[in-house]
Amino acid sequence: MRQTYSSAQAEKGDKVICPVEGTVIEVNENTPFLEIGNKKYYICCRSCAEKLKADPGKYLEDEFKLSDEEWRQRLELEQYEIMRQKGTEQAFTGKYWDHKEKGVYRCAACGLPLFSSHTKYDSGSGWPSFFAPANEAAVINRPDDSHGMERIEVLCRRCGSHLGHVFGDGPKPTGTRYCINSAALDFDKADE
Ligand code: FE
Repeated sequence: MRQTYSSAQAEKGDKVICPVEGTVIEVNENTPFLEIGNKKYYICCRSCAEKLKADPGKYLEDEFKLSDEEWRQRLELEQYEIMRQKGTEQAFTGKYWDHKEKGVYRCAACGLPLFSSHTKYDSGSGWPSFFAPANEAAVINRPDDSHGMERIEVLCRRCGSHLGHVFGDGPKPTGTRYCINSAALDFDKADE
């Protein structure tokens, strides 16, 4: 099956991501969509369709292709340094390393849901740590050889902002540790 994680111009059988909630959708003849400009965006449900219709700029990938100067103006200084210049906050200083509420962690730059509290665990590192992303299309992993180290950096799939790094020393069931900067995240508490 072809996989495309941009929901515009997808075809039947493609896996796409809902621009609003970031959920992965397999496109079939019943998948709801919205036409904006000359593009067709598949969405996961009616409530997402309404949100997308009301404010497309808040959700569409193209709206996050910003220049360095635009990012600098849009983000707080610490966020800009981490998310657009690949900085790292000091361990044990961020707002979420010891945060234990139930809910969803979103990208601080674009709002895409990235991690769930269900996969958060205490790694002892002083940074928020997760053993998996919210879904297979939430983040992108990319080799990073900066600072004389060979690491894999983690980026937001929608806006390309740097979030942190991923390591192979996580807990079961994945054995993966997503080590993320608090400053790259916003938190939405779940109602449950
Ligand atoms: Fe983002």
